[in-house]
Order: sequence, then C-alpha cells, then structure tokens
Amino acid sequence: MLLRHTTDKVKERKALTVNPAKTCQPIGAMYAALGIHGCLPHSHGSQGCCSYHRSALTKHYKEPVMASTSSFTEGSSVFGGQANLMTAIENIFAIYEPEIIAVHSTCLSETIGDDLGQIVAKARDEGKVPFGKHIIQASTPSYVGSHVTGYANMLEGIVRYFPEKTDEKKRQINLLAGWVEPSDMRELKRLAGLLKVKSVLLPDTSDVLDTPMTGSYEMYPKGGTTIPDMISMGDSMKTIGLGDWGTRKAAVMLDNKCKVPFEIVDIPVGLRATDRFIQALAKAGKVSIPDSLTDERGRLVDVITDMHQYLYGKRVAIYGDPDNIIPLIEFLTDMDMKPVYIVSGTPGKNFDKRIEEILSERVPEAKYKNGPQADMLLMHQWIKQEPVDLIIGNTYGKYISRDENIPFVRMGFPILDRVGHSYFPTVGYMGGIRILEKILGAIMDYQDATSPEESFELTM
Ligand code: SF4
Repeated sequence: MLLRHTTDKVKERKALTVNPAKTCQPIGAMYAALGIHGCLPHSHGSQGCCSYHRSALTKHYKEPVMASTSSFTEGSSVFGGQANLMTAIENIFAIYEPEIIAVHSTCLSETIGDDLGQIVAKARDEGKVPFGKHIIQASTPSYVGSHVTGYANMLEGIVRYFPEKTDEKKRQINLLAGWVEPSDMRELKRLAGLLKVKSVLLPDTSDVLDTPMTGSYEMYPKGGTTIPDMISMGDSMKTIGLGDWGTRKAAVMLDNKCKVPFEIVDIPVGLRATDRFIQALAKAGKVSIPDSLTDERGRLVDVITDMHQYLYGKRVAIYGDPDNIIPLIEFLTDMDMKPVYIVSGTPGKNFDKRIEEILSERVPEAKYKNGPQADMLLMHQWIKQEPVDLIIGNTYGKYISRDENIPFVRMGFPILDRVGHSYFPTVGYMGGIRILEKILGAIMDYQDATSPEESFELTM
C-alpha cells in the first residue's frame, strides 16, 4: 500500500492537495438534478468530465445514471461551446424527451468563459425549447468548491426557475434536502407524514436512484419532485433547509423571489439534530409531535444507554461533507465518543465555528480543518501522530484503515465497495440506530478479531 509511507510530520501546505476529501462540483449538480422528475442532467464540457461524473454516481448508487454532454472538441475549447449546446438542446428534446434539461458547466466551459444563462436564453429565443419543456442551469466550476457546492448551485438554479408566488397561500412546508441518500429522502417524507405536515421535498432522489427491478428500463423513473410541486413551493408557508452548505443559497433565493420565510437546520443525523428538525417541522406546520415519534426517539436513547460501555471514550477520525459530519460529530459526543480528527475538503467559513461549538468543552484536544488542504493525507498524518479507535468516512478511508489496522465505518459519498446506503437511512431516530449498529459492529468485530483467547467473549 502506498500510504504505508505516510509520515507523522505535518508540513504547512498552501497549494498542494493529496488525496482530497471531496470531489468535483458537477457531480453534485448532477445528483440534485436527478431528484427532479423527468429531468436529464446535461454536462456542458468534454465527454471525459461527463463520463467521470456519471460513473461516480453509478458506482455509489449501483443504478445507471443518465446524463448528456456538450461533447467539447478542440474547436469548441477555442471558439466557445455555444454551438455545441444549442445542437445538444435540440437533439436531447427530440431524442430523449425529458421534461427538463438541467445544464451545469465544467472547468473547461467556465475557463473559456461560456455564459450558460445567455446560451440558454438564445436557445429559447430561437425556438429550440419545445412548448411546456424547461431548461435550468447552474454554474459549477470545479476549481473552486466541491461536489457540495455544485449541489447547492443546482438547487439554487432549480428554485430560481420553478416556484411561483400566487395569491393563494398553501398549507405546506418546503423541505430543501441537503445531499443525503435516496433512503434518507424517503425517511424525511415518512417523518413529515408521521407529523401530518404536508411538505414538498426538493430534490427527491427516492424512486430515482433506488428503483426496483421490473424487467424494463425507465429513462425517467417515477420518483423526483414534480414540476407542479416545485411551482407550488412559492406559495408555501415556510422553507426548512437541511444543511447550511447544501441548502442556504436556495432558501435565500426562494425567500427573495417568493417571500417564503426560511429556517436552516442541520441534516437530522443523530439525536439532537433530529430533535431540532422535528421541532422545526412541528412548529412550522403548527402540529404536535405524535407518540409514535416520541417512541422512536426513546428506542434510540435506549440503544445508546445499553451500549454506552462500548462507545465511551473511543477516539474517532471523521472526514466528509460539512452538512453530514457536523451533526454526526455532535451525535458522537452525545454518546461520549471523542471525534479527535476531522477534515472536510469542502470550504466554508462556518465550519470552524460549528465544530468549536460542539467540541471545545467536550473534546478540547480535537484537530479539525476544512478546505482544499484538509485532505486524507493530513488526517492520516494526525492518525500517525496518535492513533484512533475508529475511522468514519467514504470508501477512500479503507486504505488508512487497512494500513493502520483501525475499524472503519463507511458513511458519506462515495461508497464504492459496499451496499446498503441507498436502502437504509441514517437520518432520523431510526437512522441514528442504524449508525449506532454500524459503529458497534465495527468496534465489536475488531474486539473479536484481536482479543486474546482468555477474553474472547460469546456475549457482548
Ligand atoms: S474537476 Fe473539472 S475537468 Fe475534472 S472532471 Fe470535474 S469538471 Fe471535469
């Protein structure tokens, strides 16, 4: 393994990133667009970018991910990609018949200065967009930000285009999902249903990237937020955004455009973040919390209490996306675990503040960093300095886990070597139990594998 040569000496780096803890913007834009019903994501750039983005999503979700590309050649790279996109729009509507094309840019099209808004407007003016069909766009240059930024930019693009304000206020709440799995989107809808709050979830990749085997291929599966639902969001009572990084831009856009007030809460990962989400939703919908939800909460608290002895004091290294790992870190500290090393390749100035709020008193020794140089190398070096009991993050952590012989729980994007994330949620109280089960399984498997014979236990 190449990583065996990693040393514990951390050197200040200004430009170099080694094994980034993030991926590129258009992947997020593509994922957000797939959560709209009848939408075909379109990559304005070269075929290579589009292939990579599609394959990254396909490998994670184990579903075929469709997207089209402007298919830049040397000529378009020099003279601009307008002609390619105009032709692509005509061809896509004629051949693939989507309701919506969601165009995102790439490093190349951004570098040469293509203006997506201007090209799409020209396509409309020239009648290349059939009646009743739509094009949305987002700028997603991958030399800044991360896949989370791309997701947020596309979500903003969707909200800029669809919601409309009429005189008829609707008794419904907009739920803007941060980047979570299809299973989580399904769970968010179940939780809103338990509360009896009518909601519009945007985007919604359930029944898009977790479709059943039916024997026939559907280019546009039955899931995804529908156009009428997106239009109606302009008349909702309130917007709740799940995750500052993924949803704030869209929530602000919707407020500015349609005067729908918003509140941003964490993605409901773990006990307290789920409490905050449920309370926010109950308050916005003016409903009380049903006993069935209180029972779910109680079951999570019960598992934590039962298994606390295995969790107490365990040192954890975590990497991933801010909206996902911030509530997870809070959850770990609630179980008396110690998240000591934290990296996220996604930039954002609130990261340090949020982590500090959670950890400054309970885990003062924690090291954390976000942005381009907050990479897997840095996390490995910290682990070399003083080891941890557990690593939590996407598949790329398996190299460190193997080299250092540390238990590893896969969470985040991408997961390329396991299944389950599309089907078993990690949000909500039930999701909390799922996270606990994964953590305890990893810790106990390690104990079974490494304990001396005299302390090898049948019952744990
Ligand atoms: S980083 Fe840029 S060039 Fe590379 S795949 Fe992503 S968009 Fe394309």
